[in-house]
Amino acid sequence: MEPSCSQPNKSATQSFSSTPWTAQVAIRRKYECDYAEIFVNTPDSYAEVFSQYTHFVLFGSVFYNVKLVSLQILLLKVAKMVGCRTLLVGNQQGFEQDIQFKSGVDVVVSAIDSDPIVAIDLLEENGFFSDSDYQGPKQYSKKDIRSKKHFCNGISFLKSRKDICRFDYWSSPYNFKQRIVSVGTGCPFGCTFCPSQNSIWSSKSADQIVNEVAFWKGTAIDLLTAEFFLNRKWLEKTLDALASAYIPIWMRVQGRIDSIHRNLDLLPLCKKAGIEMIYVGLESASDRVMETCNKSNNQTWRVEEIIQVARQNNIGINLNLMVGFPEDDEDSLNETYEFIKRYPYASTASFFRPIPGTSIIQEMKNSGLPFEGNIDLDGYLKHYSNRWTDGVHLPTKYLSKDRVVYWKQKFDELMKERSIPFLHFLTHEDISHRIKQRRKRNG
Ligand code: SF4
Repeated sequence: MEPSCSQPNKSATQSFSSTPWTAQVAIRRKYECDYAEIFVNTPDSYAEVFSQYTHFVLFGSVFYNVKLVSLQILLLKVAKMVGCRTLLVGNQQGFEQDIQFKSGVDVVVSAIDSDPIVAIDLLEENGFFSDSDYQGPKQYSKKDIRSKKHFCNGISFLKSRKDICRFDYWSSPYNFKQRIVSVGTGCPFGCTFCPSQNSIWSSKSADQIVNEVAFWKGTAIDLLTAEFFLNRKWLEKTLDALASAYIPIWMRVQGRIDSIHRNLDLLPLCKKAGIEMIYVGLESASDRVMETCNKSNNQTWRVEEIIQVARQNNIGINLNLMVGFPEDDEDSLNETYEFIKRYPYASTASFFRPIPGTSIIQEMKNSGLPFEGNIDLDGYLKHYSNRWTDGVHLPTKYLSKDRVVYWKQKFDELMKERSIPFLHFLTHEDISHRIKQRRKRNG
């Protein structure tokens, strides 16, 4: 059966991430099966669509809000009701277990955005897609996700339906077209607040990355992997391949401070490859706070050098910030504030949120810090309708909740009033301009 999908509603924000399509190609190739895509805003009867299939795989959204989580639960319930074997590939936001309980879904895999392909590998190994009885319910986490050497190896979303991919999909929260192209997964570091902590790093080949990036020429993409700068050999090969292909494109990547710093000499090659923006995981300018989160080597002197070299190469920098770590006090937040004043390369600051499954939860429990319903789904949905706007604020060891909110607002105001160099890259016109420049140079 060819897809019985509904068309996405153009007025709603759509996102494109390469992984669900890659996973779908892998499943279809192996089992020669039919599939349907559904868009959550379709008015069609889900039961009618689902009853034509044996399996239902839901790739959970990153952007949790009340409506979306409720819809995910509903979809899984309906699929289960009509007899599908059901799977939720969640986004490691920590609520997958709760969703499993509420929806009765057979299998849950917690996997951050670039991991769904690996998750599908794991399920294939465990017989999820075969006809025989599958022993559910099961939960898999990053501990179970080992490699992507088997099922999906070398498979690209480019083998998916061509017509779905061009311009119907937008990635929020940007106001220009942007796609997520996953280039790898995992991170071997152990930052206690991060859902990627201590996972296996792996990557796609340089050739595959070039092909997938070339498909999106003329637009902007997030070249997604938790740690783009970790493996120098892979980095050099990938950048070389992208630079030789000279694709007219705007790309952003993200990395850890010490890894970027170790590869500063490669920033000119990054630029040549089409990387126009680097997201740098600063989180806090306080060495003390970062050390307690097991993220040392995060020092600001390295950031200063990164900014300097990035500027020389006309690459944008965005510093990720988090307010309200358990160890945050007046001094640490002031230190970060002063740093951002001096280097206004941040566009937002998020409230620290303890993500279920991360090791910081245990440390918070040991310190007697409250969670105030933030680490179970019901509490989260009750208090916060949207992770990105309302945030999940808590007291720290040294600061009241009100004081944390005060600091967050102070950061917000600072970022609003300062002209942030980073923003020069964020209008559609700027992106188009950059891409045109590359086109011209390319002849
Ligand atoms: S380096 Fe970044 S991706 Fe890796 S564990 Fe730390 S915060 Fe997470």
